[in-house]
Amino acid sequence: MSFIEFKNIEKKYKNAKKKSVTDFNLSIDEGEFIVFVGPSGCGKSTTLRMLAGFEEITNGTITIDGKVVNELPPRDRGIAMVFQNYALYPHMTVENNIAFGLKNINTPKDEIKRKVDWAVDILGLEEYRKRKPKNLSGGQRQRVAVGRAIVRNQKVFLMDEPLSNLDAKLRVGMRNEISKLHRELGSTTIYVTHDQVEAMTMADRIVVMKDGVIQQIGTPMNLYDNPKNKFVAGFIGSPQMNFFEVDVNGNIVKFSDGNKITIPEGIVKKLDGKSGKMYMGVRGEDIKLDNLNLNLYQDNILRSQIEHEEIMGNENNLYFKLGGITAVTRVGKDDLKRVGEDFNFVINTNKIHFFDLETEENITY
Ligand code: ADP
Ligand code: MG
Repeated sequence: MSFIEFKNIEKKYKNAKKKSVTDFNLSIDEGEFIVFVGPSGCGKSTTLRMLAGFEEITNGTITIDGKVVNELPPRDRGIAMVFQNYALYPHMTVENNIAFGLKNINTPKDEIKRKVDWAVDILGLEEYRKRKPKNLSGGQRQRVAVGRAIVRNQKVFLMDEPLSNLDAKLRVGMRNEISKLHRELGSTTIYVTHDQVEAMTMADRIVVMKDGVIQQIGTPMNLYDNPKNKFVAGFIGSPQMNFFEVDVNGNIVKFSDGNKITIPEGIVKKLDGKSGKMYMGVRGEDIKLDNLNLNLYQDNILRSQIEHEEIMGNENNLYFKLGGITAVTRVGKDDLKRVGEDFNFVINTNKIHFFDLETEENITY
């Protein structure tokens, strides 16, 4: 039996026109690191807050460790939570901020000391323990907030956009620290973010949401390689997947600008007889400019001109026109081109997806 279970969970706020969360079903194993990801307003926080007990559940049941918690007050659910706007007590030192929740529930003094020592050590806050929040950096303050949550030694750890207020570099550092902490503590964790990179780098499994509805649940690579629909395909991965509106006939794909390529038998089979207009999805790294690939797929060579480029060094994005859209390819430094240069390329047709124009479902899933 799974550790946390959402069964047909729905949320409709009072006076709201539509549901904020619709038919949400999810089973979480003990010790898993789950990330809810999706654009702002898709229902991530609402779902988390229903689990924590801060928000009433309109329909459905939530089970933690075999026990239905719908009517249970937050403090009895065995949950610790870190928010985006964590409020530290400004007049208290780091160690007193961390200890505060424990004192509140009458924890014996020596136990408080042991737990605070442990948290301070694990979070690298030893030299700051006597400082007040105003004398800490954003990252250190965030670590104090995490410390306050972990000393409570709960079965479930919830985090709602805990890194949103930090600058980019700090976010990467804290991301790694939270992952490391999870490996050490092993507590079941649900982490909410709108940032797909955070989701990809931290999650055991990702839950992609849109408009209150789960779009897909899977491991990071699973979602990247096998997106169920165009939304997931476009949301996961950077730069975004290219979507070409094409006309498919047997093994021939025709772009709107008249360009044509052939696709392999395996993909034709997955199309299962479907033909006509659809979206073809191609990831940037599956558009190849190197000689090896150009030689290998000579019959499928396409040609365009570089319109714009983003040079990062090891990875570089080249933009060009194909099939009426600006497409992007991601290349290493050996395949760099100059803006305005004409170039040949091939599409790795083993890695393409086709999406229905209407439903946007992945036909080749
Ligand atoms: P996310 O965390 O994914 O950004 P939320 O869960 O905060 O999204 O919000 C989901 C939807 O519910 C949004 O449309 C939001 O406007 C609405 N919502 C959130 N909180 C309330 C509330 N207290 N009352 C009414 N509507 C709300
Ligand atoms: Mg939110």
